Amino acid sequence: MKTFKSNDKTQITPHFNVSEFRCKCGGNHDTQLDESLVQKLEQLFSALNCSKIIVNSGYRCIAHDKNVGGNGYGQHTKGTAADIVCYDRNGKKISSKIVCCAAQDIGFGGIANIDSTYTATHVDTRTSLKWYGDETVTTAYSVTDDFYKHWKLSKNDVYETAPAKKTKSVTLTIDGVTYQGTLTEK
Ligand SMILES: [Zn+2]
Ligand SMILES: [Zn+2]
Repeated sequence: MKTFKSNDKTQITPHFNVSEFRCKCGGNHDTQLDESLVQKLEQLFSALNCSKIIVNSGYRCIAHDKNVGGNGYGQHTKGTAADIVCYDRNGKKISSKIVCCAAQDIGFGGIANIDSTYTATHVDTRTSLKWYGDETVTTAYSVTDDFYKHWKLSKNDVYETAPAKKTKSVTLTIDGVTYQGTLTEK
C-alpha cells in the first residue's frame, strides 16, 4: 500500500497513472493505492489486448464512498479496488462477462459486474473470502465461484478478442537493396 499526494502523476505501470485512481470527491486529500492492484490491471490490459482501460472509480475517501452508495469501509476506501471499463482494439467496450473471467484468471479477490449494460466491472485485491458478484442481481453475496461456468463462456470466448497473431519487423537485403517490412506470425 502506498500513499500519494493528490496531485501526484506517477506512472505506475505502462498503462496506469496514479492520477487515474484519485478520489472523485473534489477534495485535495492523498490517494491510497495498492500497487498490486495496478499490476493486476496491467495484466488484464494485456490478457484482453485492450486499447484502453478507463478507471471510473479508484480510491475513495470515506465521505465519497458513502456519497456514491458505499458503506464507508469497502475496498475502494482501502485503495485496493477499481471500477473499470475495458476497450478492445477497435475501441469497442468489452463485455464485463469477459472481463470477469479474465480477472478471475489473473487472481483478483473481488470481481463483479456492476452495471445493467454489462460493460463496467469492479475488481479488487482482497485476500479474505473471494467475492464473485453481479450487482444487477445482488450486492449481498457471490453469484458464483466460477464466472466461466456462470456465464457459459470458454477460454476461447474470453480471449478471442486478443488476436493471436503478432507482427515482427524484418529486414531483407536483395541485390544490395535493403527492404524493411513486417511479417505476421501465426
Ligand atoms: Zn475524497
Ligand atoms: Zn467498485
